[in-house]
Amino acid sequence: MDISVIVPVYNEVENVRPCYTELTEVLEGLGVRYEIIFVDDGSGDGSSECLEQLAAVDQRVKLVQFRRNFGQTAAMSAGMDMAQGEAIVTIDGDLQNDPADIPLMLDKLHEGYDLVYGWRKDRQDAFWNRRLPSQVANWLIAKVTAFPVRDLGCTLKVLRREIAADLSLYGEMHRFIPILAHWEGARCVEVVTRHRPRRFGQTKYGIWRTFRVILDLITVKYMIRYAVSPMKLFGGLGLVACTAGLASGLGAIAMKVFGGVDMTGNPLLLATVFACTVGLQFFVLGLLGEVTARIYHECQGKKPYRVRRTMNVQQTFRGNQRAA
Ligand code: UDP
Ligand code: MG
Repeated sequence: MDISVIVPVYNEVENVRPCYTELTEVLEGLGVRYEIIFVDDGSGDGSSECLEQLAAVDQRVKLVQFRRNFGQTAAMSAGMDMAQGEAIVTIDGDLQNDPADIPLMLDKLHEGYDLVYGWRKDRQDAFWNRRLPSQVANWLIAKVTAFPVRDLGCTLKVLRREIAADLSLYGEMHRFIPILAHWEGARCVEVVTRHRPRRFGQTKYGIWRTFRVILDLITVKYMIRYAVSPMKLFGGLGLVACTAGLASGLGAIAMKVFGGVDMTGNPLLLATVFACTVGLQFFVLGLLGEVTARIYHECQGKKPYRVRRTMNVQQTFRGNQRAA
């Protein structure tokens, strides 16, 4: 298998068939062995039946049906878990990405890059509630992670399978794939991709997504910087707090000795107690973090989704169990 295309689908009944047709056209033009993995994320609008029909007539269509809606990240994670292709392509199932961009992105992979991510330079979504919040979020994420990314929301990406295997995706983490992959040591490159307005169906996200992405950013920053040694973060904060406590304590004593200021009435004494308590708490958090970091790294293999059924999937699916 050369290429695995992963398409998350949640209530996209009018889009499924045209999406399949467009993808097939492009992939057949490439003359490669490929599979299209549709992950049906708990659709209830007839998408499931439509996908079943496609899988029934085309062996290259693989179908994974979730028991309920687990979210786009889980859907993409499931697709990556069962992809057999050397290269993995992720693309939206709503026709907003243009499959015609795929060959160009694959070329980048051949050039030696491990991950190619799209930039919807001319994004066809509403400005106030979609493009503007997304631009702000992208700017903030680029600043915080020091990773030069302009459009994390673009699902159209091409990456090597071994890179995908190293990603653990939770929450809305599929947006952070380039950053997480970069952290795993992947060579990443951005390319301009086309973007089309939604013709059928509705977007699954609103303005609230931006806030959830910002919360995920905190997690990502922590995972990238401190997941291996949380004591570096919390121990540092603890040191700062304890030093401040010590300084204000010495201040209170000095004021008593040289100025005769009553210690009980001196707010500096309260500050000392507060800072030292907080400092101690930070140290304990650091220790707990060290323990969880070890657990996290030693018992991987927990999946963020539950699969009801698979179609045309030959290999044993380890989805619902922990890895041996
Ligand atoms: N999607 C999904 N599960 C969800 C939400 C969305 O599988 O819980 C799929 C959806 O069907 C589409 C893709 O993810 O194929 C992108 O969703 P959408 O077009 O709503 O996002 P937008 O393009 O508006 O950012
Ligand atoms: Mg869309």
